[in-house]
Amino acid sequence: MMQFSVLASGSTGNAFYVETDTHRLLVDAGLSGKQMEQLFQQIDRQLNELTGILVTHEHSDHIKGLGTIARKYQLPIYANEKTWKAMERLIGDIPTDQKFVFPLGTVRSFGDLDVESFGVSHDAAEPMFYVFHHKGKKLVLITDTGYVSDRMKGIIKHADVFVFESNHDVEMLRMGRYPWSIKRRILSDVGHVSNEDAALALADVIGDQTKRIYLAHLSQDNNMKELARMTVEQTLSSKGFEVGQQFDIYDTDPKIPTGLMYV
Ligand SMILES: [Zn+2]
Ligand SMILES: [Zn+2]
Repeated sequence: MMQFSVLASGSTGNAFYVETDTHRLLVDAGLSGKQMEQLFQQIDRQLNELTGILVTHEHSDHIKGLGTIARKYQLPIYANEKTWKAMERLIGDIPTDQKFVFPLGTVRSFGDLDVESFGVSHDAAEPMFYVFHHKGKKLVLITDTGYVSDRMKGIIKHADVFVFESNHDVEMLRMGRYPWSIKRRILSDVGHVSNEDAALALADVIGDQTKRIYLAHLSQDNNMKELARMTVEQTLSSKGFEVGQQFDIYDTDPKIPTGLMYV
């Protein structure tokens, strides 16, 4: 069986955990080494049990603790070549035998877990997210994208579980205190997905087997958990989905891991 936890999610740091009988993988280490250890304690796991760390892109909210924990626990790191180049000077020296290239648009097997990488639209070197396939079950992780293209929808559709970006409420962002240049970046095609756009994209990819949707990477300044969930629920309901019957929608938190859940 495949289990997962959204360890931390938001602009202050991201980390996602997935395990099967044979492998224990971390996706991103966007909090300090110490905070990463505390998150692992909360789900009753140890960093030294990890078999690898997958990296999505080089923004600091995804790699802040990466170098520290990879060195301390001698963990292999997987990233595409452009991401490696972009983050090399940010994470410090990593021994060559811990560096692995995971190209965009490929599938890599970790024992009984197949991990598929796919590109997103975001202002990093070559950002990519992952679909986890295990014994017919499908788990999708997608945040940090300006929009969800038809190509991406084709790859992520009909998952059992979605961890899906719901970054901001467009009105809160527009009215908020951010300078216009940052607002423009967030709203752009290489920024982040709004609550409304998350819902519209989800409407296209939810399948009969979809049971859980986790709203992720919420902006601290331009969103609220309640608002994100309400917006997504309302939009999905208006499209004929029965939220709470067909599937449930869950929050994620910048500091508190979701409990380990089976897919
Ligand atoms: Zn991010
Ligand atoms: Zn980012």
